[in-house]
Amino acid sequence: MIITGSCLCGAIHYAASGPPRLAGFCFCHDCRKASGSGFMPFMGFDAGQLQFSGTPRQHHGLSARGTIAVRNFCGDCGGLVFGGIIGTDTSHTIYAGSLDDPGQFRPQIGIFGRDRPAWVTVPPGITIYATMPDQASPA
Ligand SMILES: [Zn+2]
Ligand SMILES: [Zn+2]
Repeated sequence: MIITGSCLCGAIHYAASGPPRLAGFCFCHDCRKASGSGFMPFMGFDAGQLQFSGTPRQHHGLSARGTIAVRNFCGDCGGLVFGGIIGTDTSHTIYAGSLDDPGQFRPQIGIFGRDRPAWVTVPPGITIYATMPDQASPA
């Protein structure tokens, strides 16, 4: 299974081999602001599964865990593509809106469900966590 995607103009793109380790929606404040939407659809991959091309710009922010969260976006079209620092981080978040084939996104979980706006509906079969799966039981 090869998963490919890019920013809107195509300057930043990636190919991932194999299914993601996890896939879902994040409703946190930062993901809503970064996406301009009610949530961020994401997939988590090990760095070894991914190949990137292009030179993204980066936004650095403090994550809910107190770590620095890096979001990579295209300096030309502004499209958000992935999280993490290439060559440093051992895993990366891919923002699923960047997929070439959106059918490759198979969401299973929702995180930071406590921050979900009332106007965002969640598909059936998604397990929603109040914050993160390793910090809280499903809410
Ligand atoms: Zn672009
Ligand atoms: Zn988030």
